[in-house]
Amino acid sequence: MGVKAHEADIALELHAQLGEGPVWDERAQRLFFVDIMGQRVHSFEPTTGQHQNFEVGRPVGCVVLREDGGLVLAAHDGFFLANRDGSGLKSFGDVEIDGARVRFNDGKVCPRGRLLAGTMDWTKQQPVGALYILRGDGGVSVLLEDITISNGLAWTEDGRTLYYIDTPRQQIDAFDFDLETGAISNRRPIASFTGVAPDGMAIDSEGCLWVACWGGYRVERIDPGTGRALETVRVPARQVSSVAFGGPGLDEMYITTAWDDLTPEQRAGDPHAGDLFVAHPGVSGPPAYRFKMT
Ligand code: ZN
Repeated sequence: MGVKAHEADIALELHAQLGEGPVWDERAQRLFFVDIMGQRVHSFEPTTGQHQNFEVGRPVGCVVLREDGGLVLAAHDGFFLANRDGSGLKSFGDVEIDGARVRFNDGKVCPRGRLLAGTMDWTKQQPVGALYILRGDGGVSVLLEDITISNGLAWTEDGRTLYYIDTPRQQIDAFDFDLETGAISNRRPIASFTGVAPDGMAIDSEGCLWVACWGGYRVERIDPGTGRALETVRVPARQVSSVAFGGPGLDEMYITTAWDDLTPEQRAGDPHAGDLFVAHPGVSGPPAYRFKMT
């Protein structure tokens, strides 16, 4: 059986070193995302083409939206609050991380308004990272250790199952997620990959996962029940890093890419590396949850 294929188009040319972590702000109809190694938070309004960005001053793994209108960042070795234009940046949360060994990478807000964000080994070799949960009062707990490159996060519609990717394992794991405490348990693999590194992901309204394939020029739609790839979005850039649904109907798929990890020769042959792409795969996704300060 063939796998249905869609094509992605350029939404915004910006040649980010490590574009990552798109999140759709449905109130403002605006996409936020980061350039981790470029140390910047970007935002983009598709209807006008307006693009803004601000410098964070350290590698910024992810940006998420707050219920009260501001942003939360997980950047290098800590969490930060900021206004939407980057002003008012200040440290938040009680966490101690060895920034010489690891840095923050992907993160997402859970259905109850807390932030799950993980770290990764700077050398991408050792399982020295962890997955953290940041609560609205600034309290932080470790949910999972022995992670090498913490990446994609997604919850089922009922919030009781968390899907998670530690990239070098080349698989998606599922956990039971305790909505009250944020605790995770019962880890089990649900899908595996060969030849590519699964990175960021988003869940759609039918419960399927769209997984960015680093090194694979594509996003794959995975059925979590069977682990099979159902559809693919072809992306004209090699390092596909993450994906989020956006637009007025939440049926536009925004895809971040990177030129990080490419040799000069590879980069010369990959002229759209680091651009933002959009596709219309014919399905929508749920709106992003917002972080709740308490
Ligand atoms: Zn990632």
